[in-house]
Amino acid sequence: MTEELGFDTRAIHAGAEPDPATGARQVPIYQTTAYVFRDADHAAKLFALQEVGYIYSRLTNPTIGALQNRIADLEGGAGAVCCSSGHAAQIMALFPLMGPGKNIIASTRLYGGTVAQFSQTIKRFGWSAKFVDLDDTEAVRAAVDDDTRAIFCESISNPGGYLTDIPAIAKIADESGLPLIVDNTLATPYLCRPIEMGATLVVHSLTKYMTGNGTVTGGAVVDSGKFDWSASGKFPSLSEPEPAYHGLKFHEALGPMAFTFHGIAIGLRDLGMTMNPQGAHYTLMGIETLGLRMPKHVENAQKVAEWLENDPRVASVSYGGLASSPWKAVQEKVYPKGAGALFTFAIKGGYDAAVKLVDSLKLFSHVANLGDARSLVIHSASTTHSQLTDEQKIAAGAGPDVVRLSIGIEDAGDLIADLDQALSAASG
Ligand SMILES: *Cc1c(COP(=O)(O)O)cnc(C)c1O
Repeated sequence: MTEELGFDTRAIHAGAEPDPATGARQVPIYQTTAYVFRDADHAAKLFALQEVGYIYSRLTNPTIGALQNRIADLEGGAGAVCCSSGHAAQIMALFPLMGPGKNIIASTRLYGGTVAQFSQTIKRFGWSAKFVDLDDTEAVRAAVDDDTRAIFCESISNPGGYLTDIPAIAKIADESGLPLIVDNTLATPYLCRPIEMGATLVVHSLTKYMTGNGTVTGGAVVDSGKFDWSASGKFPSLSEPEPAYHGLKFHEALGPMAFTFHGIAIGLRDLGMTMNPQGAHYTLMGIETLGLRMPKHVENAQKVAEWLENDPRVASVSYGGLASSPWKAVQEKVYPKGAGALFTFAIKGGYDAAVKLVDSLKLFSHVANLGDARSLVIHSASTTHSQLTDEQKIAAGAGPDVVRLSIGIEDAGDLIADLDQALSAASG
């Protein structure tokens, strides 16, 4: 859609023309595995990428296609590929860039599952990650070597309410000839559009705010379409003949759509991390209200964080929207609409008090999710971050006394009252 239309208009209209077959106004759920070819010639052309069309729903599906177009539009990307989860999106994003012996520079402040994926599981592919504190730009520069293929960070990071200075990291990536991949799950394109700040690729867990109500597991990779994959010779899957696809040179043949088509033709086809049409439909519904939900999430989070910070039973609060946050300046510059709605606080009384608090909350649901319309709580050290070493836990902001809150869109006063009674129970 055109950039002249506002965010809320595009959140409703982008990617969703009336259904060409029926005129249906809402995007139908195309619950089909396959699509009938017009004739043998049509089938052959589709398989050779000489004509764009539907073959099989592991690769493309009209409902998922509408979602891809909507997300690409909201992020200001050339194209997007949806997949089965946020974790799948991370592998999908890295797959065309990496190979045995290659590495990425990854922020120390990442979702616990991502730390596990990057520090352990990707080793099976011969890939590795070097974890660096991205606030230390000199350390980032020093970590880049000849085998580095990408820099990876989260915009607002999980769980500690940390904020990444995306323009500063994008500058280093650019000077190093590397793509910058930003996980924009916690910010959503409403609070932050990394591509406008120089990011090459954006990944999402659609499971969280994008769908917004805890109903779907999904992911997306958005490509800016701006990176020159042929310049350095470091990205042969995109610049050289791809043996897995008729020897096609994706970048030469498809230009700014090279990464997106590679994601469909190779990533989805061969890794099979496909989203389902029903899930895509729910996510399309969710995105329609993103511009209404995010300001309320942020407003509530700000109120709850300020209340907690002034409470004597609380040791500290880590939220980028607080004046006391070390990232306040980054928030004002990079995230002017707010610091999101996920943050942590430390309770006086350590591990035991933290666990008691979680058990005493009534309105907050104790779950391993975030970005739901309802407020959620978890004790990261014993759950989402339990696989990490003590050092990694502290670096990720998940120490033993730390409780993570995902603030929903209920009435802020009710959330504060619930926290008040639970703090009393935990401190008593
Ligand atoms: C949840 C989450 C993921 C993983 O997404 P799934 O959909 O659960 O696979 C990745 N990054 C961040 C920041 C997340 O919050």
